[in-house]
Amino acid sequence: MDERRTILMDRYEIGRQLGQGNFAKVYFARNLTDGQSVAIKMIDKDKITRVGLIVQIKREISIMRLVKHPNVLQLFEVMASKSKIYFVLEYAKGGELFNKVSKAKLSEDAARRYFHQLVNAVDYCHSRGVYHRDLKPENLLLDENENLRVSDFGLSALSESRRHDGLLHTTCGTPAYVAPEVLGRRGYDGTKADIWSCGVILFVLVAGYLPFHDPNLIEMYRKISRAEYRCPRSFSGELKDLLFRMLDPDPSTRISISRIKRSTWYRKPIEANAAKIKHGTARDTTVRDGEAATASSSIECSNRPEEDQGSSSLPNLNAFDIISLSTGFDLSNLFEERHGRREERFTTRQPVGAVFGRLKELAERLKLKIQKKESGVLKLAAQKEGMKGFLELDAEVFELAPSFLLVELKKASGDTIEYQRLVREEVRPALKDMVWAWQSDRHQQQQQRCEQSVQGEDQQQPLSSLPTQQ
Ligand code: AMP
Repeated sequence: MDERRTILMDRYEIGRQLGQGNFAKVYFARNLTDGQSVAIKMIDKDKITRVGLIVQIKREISIMRLVKHPNVLQLFEVMASKSKIYFVLEYAKGGELFNKVSKAKLSEDAARRYFHQLVNAVDYCHSRGVYHRDLKPENLLLDENENLRVSDFGLSALSESRRHDGLLHTTCGTPAYVAPEVLGRRGYDGTKADIWSCGVILFVLVAGYLPFHDPNLIEMYRKISRAEYRCPRSFSGELKDLLFRMLDPDPSTRISISRIKRSTWYRKPIEANAAKIKHGTARDTTVRDGEAATASSSIECSNRPEEDQGSSSLPNLNAFDIISLSTGFDLSNLFEERHGRREERFTTRQPVGAVFGRLKELAERLKLKIQKKESGVLKLAAQKEGMKGFLELDAEVFELAPSFLLVELKKASGDTIEYQRLVREEVRPALKDMVWAWQSDRHQQQQQRCEQSVQGEDQQQPLSSLPTQQ
């Protein structure tokens, strides 16, 4: 038995294959240190490099650090070898929710329980500026207590690419869950796109089949774009009404999550025996009834990211931590990072004008030159030459949601130590009241653990030794 063991990065024993997507295979694995079961998603670097997704994936992984919710599958860490990226995820023992539906459609009460959990997960992630954009059955997993765990939140780059590279049409075959505006490749609001997908999911849970279905893909696109579907007679009036408002082809008039939570159907009691869950966990509060679900989600959505980061026995690292700490890995080709280059990221709920305004005030005080390079980038440049030429700092803003920004500070030129001092002693204090979370704050605490964990990882398993489906 032991001869067949495949160990990844000296840390995880790889077991059976759990599933497969276009870019990734998912394996069951066990953490050798504490025996914890995990799922490892192995993504082919070559494929994602070819479709130019690296920058987007880096950003999205860093955002994933902010996400921790009882109904969202947790990303524990990200590792990389020369040819693969490994996402170490919480293992969802109950498998896919839709395996249940394929056996028998659910009663409205039973479906409501999963729907509450789905809506709470989606609402929470949206509050963190994270959108799914590809909610579909494969992403709806169950834990050992039959509670919903939504996977792939924040990793929309991967699913987006599935659409762009054409693989979706040949391999997966159906855009059945995707909102019309996403199919139309127009700019779209991630919140509204996710609400549409939740509507399709709700329909499938109760009907046992898809609202938009046609063997001809063009015809199916047409049905989706016009929201042409018919509810079974058995659907209650309240459910039909909610679905009608969720499956609104116009995203600007589509129902919001807060209104979904106030809808009559949502607020009905959930199935009495549905709560097969442990007492005393946060999950209890999300499933008791419509009122409790709303209340709990507002608690979970509080603006206190660090408080709801539960203690995990695994370091909650992201790709940036790994890149910056694991010199043994040659990730330079993949991520185009150069040693010594420094970046800092923070999230904020302030508008871009307020962030730039504050940086401009700081620049004036420190007598730095200000230059607005292009939309979303502000350059601050020292007027006096430093140790290694003129210090230049770029602040780039990414809008994750209309009221949620990710700001990246980057040294464009000059001495790294001078740059770090500027950020530490001037920029951080100046922005203090605006910052929601600095992504590097837990970096130092993790450093020691991370350094231990990456030791010896340059002697990685040849990837060909990974098991195939058993
Ligand atoms: P994905 O590439 O995320 O769509 O995953 C492919 C399949 O692997 C899913 O449909 C699930 O059946 C399985 N899978 C993915 N992640 C997990 C997990 N964390 N736990 C259990 N099964 C998983």
